[in-house]
Amino acid sequence: MSNALRAVRGMNDLLPADAPLWAHFEQNIRAWLKNYGYREMRTPILEHTGLFKRAIGEVTDIVEKEMYTFVDALNGESMTLRPEGTASCVRAAIEHNLLFDGGKRLWYAGPMFRHERPQKGRYRQFHQVGVEALGYAGPDLDIEHLLMTARLWKMLGLAEFVRLEINSLGGPEARASHRQKLVAYFEAHAEQLDADSQRRLLTNPLRILDSKNPAMQALVEAAPQLIDELDADARQHFDAVRQGLDDAGISYRVNPRLVRGLDYYNYTVFEWVTDKLGAQGTVCAGGRYDGLVAQLGGKPAPACGFAMGVERLLVMMSEAGLLPAPDAPDVYLVNVGEAAARYAPLAAEKLRDAGLDVIMHGGGGSFKSQMKKADASLARYAVLIGDDEMAENQVTVKPLRGEFVQERGQPPEQQRMALTEAIGFFQRVSNGTRS
Ligand code: ATP
Ligand code: MG
Repeated sequence: MSNALRAVRGMNDLLPADAPLWAHFEQNIRAWLKNYGYREMRTPILEHTGLFKRAIGEVTDIVEKEMYTFVDALNGESMTLRPEGTASCVRAAIEHNLLFDGGKRLWYAGPMFRHERPQKGRYRQFHQVGVEALGYAGPDLDIEHLLMTARLWKMLGLAEFVRLEINSLGGPEARASHRQKLVAYFEAHAEQLDADSQRRLLTNPLRILDSKNPAMQALVEAAPQLIDELDADARQHFDAVRQGLDDAGISYRVNPRLVRGLDYYNYTVFEWVTDKLGAQGTVCAGGRYDGLVAQLGGKPAPACGFAMGVERLLVMMSEAGLLPAPDAPDVYLVNVGEAAARYAPLAAEKLRDAGLDVIMHGGGGSFKSQMKKADASLARYAVLIGDDEMAENQVTVKPLRGEFVQERGQPPEQQRMALTEAIGFFQRVSNGTRS
């Protein structure tokens, strides 16, 4: 093993045992997004570094220390593996003029890359599903996003494990006047600031509020609050969002310290958080970013959106036992002997033509060892072909988990029949039991 190659630290393989949970999640996600009229986008995983610097902000955790950035050896350009999806989504919308006839509801899903210290719920390659509504000033779309996330937790069985926190960051004026007060406050307590925060005092004091350093929590707690600076417009918008939540019966907490780690937000910001994941408690986060489209060179357009961390949601689901039924074929095709082995691929194709999921035993072996595999496959039926069956142009059908439907008496343990008969039988039983 010492010589063996290993995956990059903090980047996970998805193995077959976990794949059904991901597939189950993705199926739900697609149905949910269709339910709300959102349309899929796929953008490249690699972008020019400048995109993220401009969108996320130079003085943020992501841009300062978390990005996988490298120089393309062929042309000397600085490239970055995307750390989040909003910047790319907005870039693509501008580049392809998607907003020419009004607002667009968009979504994307895929891997994101951040150079962080790996731990439970925090990886260097992780996955997000992101939703963006471009060209809508709200608050109706802000409310839609909160209601749709609430619906998703219900669909996934997670509603009881998550709670909603919201805040408003106001507009540029509120930010500016809050910034002044914040700088004055932190300057007065400069000796309590850690090194990161001292640097941020000059560049991006709002980020200090996002500090995860426990030694600074009391200081941050007592800092001037942005929400006190909101102008009439921002307050009205925020009140409407809160009203929308109240109307829908969704409970939430206003958290004045919620500022988010990216610069592009204004007005509404929100996070869905859980106590189930230790320090990695945020499973979904987002808000409004009215300035970003213009900032990336597009015709000004308001926007809002959110992204959820897939791994964190899946850890919650699996810890809560919310696992989908394992994938199981309808039929495991056992074949013993040369003639049967030759016939098996054809027999399997015929069964598949009839709509059945079939695993054909491969690699030979005794009847007994093949039956063990059949059992382990979780197939409902084994179809057995040996020399006897070949001689009589028949197959043997043996229920493993399914059963023979029989009017009267004990159903037989197994039954010999022609393959076409077996197909008819499977179709009859599956009509009754399969969705
Ligand atoms: P955190 O405060 O946990 O670092 P963040 O504010 O950096 O999160 P966002 O940029 O808002 O996260 O990304 C949205 C969601 O993506 C997060 O709420 C989280 O669920 C998930 N996420 C972010 N970073 C990681 C990571 N390194 N590994 C796994 N999931 C992540
Ligand atoms: Mg982070």
